[in-house]
Parts: sequence; structure tokens; C-alpha cells
Amino acid sequence: MTDDIFEDAEFETLAVRAGQVRTNEGEQSEPIFPTSSYVFKNAAQAAARFKGDEPGNIYSRFTNPTVRTFEQRLAALEGGESCVATASGMSAILATCMALLKAGDHVVCSRAVFGTTVVLFNNYLMKFGIEVDFVDLTDLDGWQQAIRTNTKLLFVETPSNPLTQLVDIQALAEIAHNRNCLLVVDNCFCTPALQQPLKLGADVVIHSATKYLDGQGRCVGGAVVGDAERVGKDVYGFLRTAGPSMSPFNAWVFLKGLETLKLRMHAHSDNAQALAEWLEEQPQVEKVYYPGLASHPQHDLSKRQQSRAGGLLSFVLKGGQAAAWKLIDATQMVSITANLGDTKTTVTHPATTTHGRLTDEQRADAGISDGLVRIAVGLESITDLKADLTRGLETL
Ligand SMILES: *Cc1c(COP(=O)(O)O)cnc(C)c1O
Repeated sequence: MTDDIFEDAEFETLAVRAGQVRTNEGEQSEPIFPTSSYVFKNAAQAAARFKGDEPGNIYSRFTNPTVRTFEQRLAALEGGESCVATASGMSAILATCMALLKAGDHVVCSRAVFGTTVVLFNNYLMKFGIEVDFVDLTDLDGWQQAIRTNTKLLFVETPSNPLTQLVDIQALAEIAHNRNCLLVVDNCFCTPALQQPLKLGADVVIHSATKYLDGQGRCVGGAVVGDAERVGKDVYGFLRTAGPSMSPFNAWVFLKGLETLKLRMHAHSDNAQALAEWLEEQPQVEKVYYPGLASHPQHDLSKRQQSRAGGLLSFVLKGGQAAAWKLIDATQMVSITANLGDTKTTVTHPATTTHGRLTDEQRADAGISDGLVRIAVGLESITDLKADLTRGLETL
């Protein structure tokens, strides 16, 4: 199929077809190209490729057909002009910052982002003269006030992890653009199957492909999606030079993940919704955080901005850390691991793992109480999931 055919294609079609270029072998499934370099027909062709006069493959740090297919498919799903695949989600964030920022620039970032993203900003980008301030995700006035004349970029995750807070992407994009800033959204938790930030006005979308894009806990990877100038030229230019590139094998795994992304995200959401509603009825549970619950303070925004509420939820147990650890240790099926976005359900105690390095005060500010448990709901039967958690709840 040529690209023209996809102009009006629906998400489901793009997810299985976009970006595929069949070779002369007529393969049905996309091939993996494990080659570091490419052979030219003659010296003149080599010169033309290097000069950029002729399109085509040169070297797999920056041109690989399998990686390109993944990039084109994800770009189509997010509704972006360009996509650059990277070795991990963190290198996607690094590549974006290296390409779009310079010394003296200022970034405003939500406090509730992935912990390693905070470390990247505070310990590394600051070393090179890029300043960062952190604000509350939901506080639009706070974002307004934090923007300075040298602010270039606003960075968010929505929904947040583990408390599932949201920001109105459209409203934040308007704030960003009124002040000549770019809005970067890490779309890890919703994926384009549930939320398309570029269509709501965001400028750049970041992915940790490690999570739901793979969806089966196999490979580490990332991606940056956006317009042809900033992403297709600037971010690509950094990747080509610095080399945090995605391997062709990983690109193939993610490509196959994209084909079932929507089905999986809907199934994750169905399970998480059922589990959240059930947890809300349990006497041992003080509070449940899930955007799909009517009790969530941003339930209406989540219905407007996301097609479904996603697979991530958290809840507070009445007995603090002792109760949380008892519940976790009494489970026999769910995996005790900090990763998420897997077919297998995972459970985490944020206060002593992902947020364990924060001071007591920082943790309290972030709303991470000792009784908080996070569940990334997988695709097992909801009956078996409830039974596994019941083992834990009964010990309390
Ligand atoms: C995991 C994660 C990252 C980092 O991705 P890696 O693939 O582990 O480098 C970035 N953002 C969010 C929201 C994540 O959950």
C-alpha cells in the first residue's frame, strides 16, 4: 500500500499497515534488517547518499528499514509528521532536550514525572546551564507563574504515576504557545490508542516504548514524535550524531506491539476499571486513585481527553506501610516489580521503592503516603486478580 491510501485510514488500519515496505520476497510480516551498513552500487552513489542528494540507507545508527517502519507507524498513530526511535525512553527525553535547548534556557516540568526524568534535569542538564523549575501538574496558574522570558519548554506526563492526576493538555498548550514555549508530553501511560496529545495542541510526544508499545515486558526502547522540522530534522540530527539509536530487533518487537496496541489498551482499561470499582468497596481500603472512577476529581477531564482511563491505578490502605507490605507479600500471582505496561499485572509500594529516595517531607508533598500501593493492571482474568488481592486484604 502506498502512503496516499493511508491519508484517511483509521487508527486500527494504521496500527497494522502503516510504514510497511515489502521487499521483492513478498513477505507478509515485516522483515528485520540486522545490518550495520549498506552497500552502494558505485562510488558516485556513495557520494550522493553521503551528500544527501539521494535518499537511502547509509549506516544503521541513523538509517535502518525496520526502525523506519516502526517510526512511520508510530508517527501515523500519534498524528505526527515525524518520529525518531531511540534506545530507551530516557534517551528520547535526552535527545529532545539536546536538540531543542541550549545553555541559558529554562524548562518548567511537572513535579509528578518519572523519577529518572527529574534526575536527568537536575543532575545532568543543569550541568550544561539549562535551568528547571518544578510545578504541580494540575495547577494551571502555577504553570503560568513559573514561565520566564527564557523558558523554552514545558514538560508533562498525564496521567501521572502513581496518583493518576491529569492536566488539561489543550489548556496547557495554549499557555505554552502564548509565551513562545513548546509543550512536550510523555504519553507513556495512555499511548496514542487512548490519547493523542499532538491533536490537542502539544508540540512533541515522548514514549518509553518499553511500556505499553511493547506491552509484553521484552525490550527497552523509546521514541520522539512531532513535526518535520523539530523532530524530523533537529531531534534526528542529534540522534544521527550522538547515536542513542534503537536496534532493528527491538524496533520489530515494538512494531508488532503496535498492531495490538488498541486491543490491549482497551483490555487493560476494562480490567483496571473493574478492579478500581471493586477496591473502592473494600473496607481495608481508604482511597482509590483511578481516572475512570466518578470519585476521581478530574473524572470529567479524563472523559474529554482520553478515550479510556488506562491500566494504571493506586490505592491507600488504612494500615500504612505495614498493611501495604502485608498485602503485597500475600499475593501469589501478581509480580512484585516496578515496571508497568505489561500483560502481567505488577504491584509496587511507591514509598519504599520508586519514591524511596525522597525525604519524608518531599514524599508527603508528592502525596505518596505509606499505605499507597500501585497496580499496573495486566490482562489476566479479573476474577483471578481479585482473588489474588483478596488473599492480601484478608490478612489485614
Ligand atoms: C519508564 C518511563 C520512562 C523511561 O523509559 P525507559 O524506557 O525506561 O528509559 C519515561 N517516562 C515514563 C513515564 C516512564 O514510565
